[in-house]
Amino acid sequence: MPEGHTLHRLAARIEELFVGRPWSVSSPQGRFEAGAAQLDGRIPHRAEAWGKHLFVHVDDQVWHVHLGLYGAFTFGGDESFLEALGGTASLGAPRIAAADSPLETDEHGWVIPEPPRGAVRARLRTRHGWADLRGPATCQVLTAPELTSVLKRLGPDPLRSVTSSTEPGAEAFLHGLSTRRIPVAQALMDQRVIAGVGNIYRAESLFLEQIDPALAARDLDQTRARALWNRLTQQLQDGVAEGIIRTLRGAATTGSQGTRRHWVYQHQGTGCLRCGSEIRRAELAGRMLYWCPGCQTH
Ligand SMILES: [Zn+2]
Repeated sequence: MPEGHTLHRLAARIEELFVGRPWSVSSPQGRFEAGAAQLDGRIPHRAEAWGKHLFVHVDDQVWHVHLGLYGAFTFGGDESFLEALGGTASLGAPRIAAADSPLETDEHGWVIPEPPRGAVRARLRTRHGWADLRGPATCQVLTAPELTSVLKRLGPDPLRSVTSSTEPGAEAFLHGLSTRRIPVAQALMDQRVIAGVGNIYRAESLFLEQIDPALAARDLDQTRARALWNRLTQQLQDGVAEGIIRTLRGAATTGSQGTRRHWVYQHQGTGCLRCGSEIRRAELAGRMLYWCPGCQTH
């Protein structure tokens, strides 16, 4: 599942390619027809991410997307459009490359998109290109009060708090942890505690802060909780900059199995690069957890 950095990159792309321009919105698959009709022919004025959610503001309405496990956007368009994408034709999973055949334009001078492939829930079009959304968990149009109730269920997003001092940040995270007796590893996946963290960031941040994943969230002291917040903030920022999750850097990254990006995530059964203990894997609340029992002891 895409983690928060992917959604922030996506929001930045939508902002760059669609915001402030007339767009047309349709639902080739048909499942978002009514919503698309509400957005069609208008001008989106802001795109933003909060955790794993994308919100595109169109006048007083908001297009709300959550990619879930399978959702992805693909982009296609003329040269100027693809250039603005920086070579990334797809965001989210699965990846489908956009075709690069020459594009015709319609009577308004807009490029004509290729025919939709697969189940395209929503297609956005603007003069120079288009974006197709497939397989999202959520794709709906919200009113302002409905948006407020969605946001109420979301905890602080480190990527939002670094860009605005008015956003909820570390204090809200500390408070969220202090009210939960579930394991800290489970609390990190609770989007009401912290928004945007997924399975890779939770495993890697807990490892680097040497936190026992089974420790009750409320028993993590404030200093360590703050350090964990700062660690996640840095990791998510790196993710936005690089477009991939890389938490392991330096000499240890090249081994016999090629380039390695993570300390513990999906490295169960191998020796910890720090202490040599065998990295463990176990299921916790339906998701796989990875940790080093030698380093993460309390
Ligand atoms: Zn270790």
